[in-house]
Amino acid sequence: MPALPAGLAGHAGAEWLDRYTHALLPTYGVPQRALVRGDGAYVWDADGRRYLDLLGGIATNVLGHAHPTLVGAVSAQLATLGHVSNFFASPQQVALAERLLALLEAPQGSRVFLANSGAEANEGAFKVARRTGRPRILALQGAFHGRTMGALALTHKPDYREPFAPLPGGVEHVPAGDLGALEAALDGDVAALFVEVIQGEAGVRPLPEGYLAAARELTASVGALLVVDEVQTGVGRTGHWFAHTRHGVVPDVVTVAKGLGGGIPVGAMVTLGERASGLLGAGQHGTTFGGNPVASAAALATLHVIERDGLLDNVSSVGRRLAEGAPAAGGSLVTDVRGEGLLLGLHLARPRAKELTAAALEAGFIVNAVGPDTVRLAPPLILTADQADSFLAALPQLVQTAEPDEES
Ligand SMILES: *Cc1c(COP(=O)(O)O)cnc(C)c1O
Repeated sequence: MPALPAGLAGHAGAEWLDRYTHALLPTYGVPQRALVRGDGAYVWDADGRRYLDLLGGIATNVLGHAHPTLVGAVSAQLATLGHVSNFFASPQQVALAERLLALLEAPQGSRVFLANSGAEANEGAFKVARRTGRPRILALQGAFHGRTMGALALTHKPDYREPFAPLPGGVEHVPAGDLGALEAALDGDVAALFVEVIQGEAGVRPLPEGYLAAARELTASVGALLVVDEVQTGVGRTGHWFAHTRHGVVPDVVTVAKGLGGGIPVGAMVTLGERASGLLGAGQHGTTFGGNPVASAAALATLHVIERDGLLDNVSSVGRRLAEGAPAAGGSLVTDVRGEGLLLGLHLARPRAKELTAAALEAGFIVNAVGPDTVRLAPPLILTADQADSFLAALPQLVQTAEPDEES
């Protein structure tokens, strides 16, 4: 076991959490644990307790923790050339852009903008949309596209938006999954429609079958761009490299982040085809760190391991195991499981997501309440069937702890 960083050893988690509340802004509330180490699908807290990480840094640590290939690639790159600014090209940045275009089977003329986060990738897409010269932008009710001001304007949740009004204008939210409403809202003034294939933050809600393909046709018919936010669903999360490809659509813009760097911050906005790629010109967007050699090396290593180790197949099979096993193990509380691959929402019959998440943590499982009645699983793509089974085996007891008075 590697040594803890100097100064961390010997401190109880409680002390770190106390110091946390005195040093950090309370934007995330008070964390439940201080984590100090990870290995594969497991993490350890400051008091030495082990947890199976079924959240994966929020759909981010796709190779789990301390993956040797990722550690090796990042260390080697940092020891060679860490950061150069976007005044210069780097082989890693170019190779990453080419790799993303290849994975997306991008048409002629497609291009990549490298960023540091999902919100930043979506800011880029927002700018692309503005450059059409059209005033209106459509997004879906329940949408989450990030917390910076442009991305926040695309995000639907009033609690996130309202404290920061006025937001960049022109964004309207139409009911998710309602093609009639979409058709009624679309006209020649619409620059773009932003969608997530599965709304992650809204409670792991997939778009209805057929919606994405129809949205592609409807947007194309009025000359509006289709922007698919794959920040949560991309990079193998659903058992496909990107969630939208299964639906047979070619978007105009795809945004990626979370899983892309395997835990190192990196994002991308990919403009597909000549038209979308022609909208942002020289000097119209930029970010100091975006796609720096270390971040790009991390992304290349992550994509390499997903392919080399056949992780897409693992995602499908372990995901199916969890999706099929959870309602059986969850008694009367877990009614069904939404999502695809290893992005799953356990839907609860009663609003006990917080209680179930707390019971899971006590029992050594990290999951996430993504709404009052939905528990999200977004584990590393390396999760094994045995690890999935250990959660399913514990679930009946977790349900019992979460609501001791219910018959299960
Ligand atoms: C997390 C997320 C974002 C924001 O990404 P950050 O890296 O947190 O800025 C945007 N869109 C979707 C769908 C996400 O899940």
